[in-house]
Amino acid sequence: MKKGRVFSGARPTGRQHIGNYLGAIQNYVGLQQTYECIYCIVDVHALTTLEETHLLKENTREMMLDWLAAGLDPEKSILFIQSHVPEVMELHTLLSMVTPLSWLLRVATFKEKVKAQPHNVNYGLVGYPVLMTADIVLYKADTVPVGEDQLPHLEVAREIVRRFHYLFGPTFPEPKAKLTTFPLVLGLDGERKMSKSYDNDIELAASPEETTQRIMTAFTDPARQYRSDPGHPEVCNVYSLHHFYNREQLVEIAEQCRGAAIGCVDCKQLLADAVNEALVPFRERRAEIAQRTGHVDEVLADGARRAHAIAKETIKEVKEKMGLP
Ligand code: SF4
Repeated sequence: MKKGRVFSGARPTGRQHIGNYLGAIQNYVGLQQTYECIYCIVDVHALTTLEETHLLKENTREMMLDWLAAGLDPEKSILFIQSHVPEVMELHTLLSMVTPLSWLLRVATFKEKVKAQPHNVNYGLVGYPVLMTADIVLYKADTVPVGEDQLPHLEVAREIVRRFHYLFGPTFPEPKAKLTTFPLVLGLDGERKMSKSYDNDIELAASPEETTQRIMTAFTDPARQYRSDPGHPEVCNVYSLHHFYNREQLVEIAEQCRGAAIGCVDCKQLLADAVNEALVPFRERRAEIAQRTGHVDEVLADGARRAHAIAKETIKEVKEKMGLP
C-alpha cells in the first residue's frame, strides 16, 4: 500500500549534473519505494523564456536517459513529457478563471523574471503558478517534493485548489509539500548553485577524463596562494563536494588542508577519483540504455498513455463541475 501520489516536474535542461542528482533525482528514486510517483519533464514551462527552443527535443531525451540511468523505473513511476498530455493546457485555462490576478502578480519569482527578461514579459510568466497547479492536480497528486524556496509556489497551488473547491465543490486533493533535505550543491565557481547556465557543473554522463578536467578548474580557498599556505576547508568548494563523495576521508582532508600537508591539485584529484568511482554504475547503465534503439521513446510514450488515462477523467469531472455543456 503506497502512502500517496507524488508529482514532480523539471524543465528540460538536457544532460543532468551532480547538483541535479543530489538535489532532486536521488530523492525521486527513493520516493518510488513508498509513493505512486509521476515525474514529468515540463517542456511547456520551458517556453516561458523562449530560449533554445530548437534544443527542446534533444534536451528532453538526454534528460530522460539520465533519469532512467539514475534509477527512475518506468515499472514503478509514470515518466512522461508535459506537452504529450495536452489536457494540462486545458486545465490551466479552466483554473485561470478561478485565480485572481493579484495572487499571481505578488509571486516573487514573477517579479524576478520581469527583471531578468524585461523584453519578454509574457502571459506565460505570470500564469506559471496556474500551469504548475494544473500539472499537479490533473493527476490528483497529493504530495509534491519541493525545496524550501519553492514553498510559496505550492502555497499558490493550494490557494487555487481551495478557491476551486469553494466555487465548485471538492475535486482535488490539496497538495502537500514534501520538503527535501538535500543541501544546496555549489557549482565549480564556488559561488553559485550548480547550474548548466552558469557553466559551473559536472555532468553525470561526462567521461572520467572530462570529469577530472572539470574538477581541476574548481575554485578553492582563495587564501591558498602557494602549496605551503595553510588552507580553510570550511570556505572551500572542493571540500564541500567531498562531503557528498568522500565522507569517510573528510576529517583527514580537513586536517591535511589546514596543515598544508596536501595541495589543492592532489585534493581535487581525490575528489575526481571519488566522483568517477561513484558514477561507474550510472555510466554503465546509461550506455546500456542508450544503445537500446527506441527505448527512451517507448518509455515516454507509455508514460504519456498512463498519465493521459488519469488526466482525461479529471478533465471530465472538472468540466462537469464548472457547468460546461
Ligand atoms: Fe580546498 Fe582541498 Fe585545497 Fe583545502 S586542499 S583548499 S580543501 S582544494
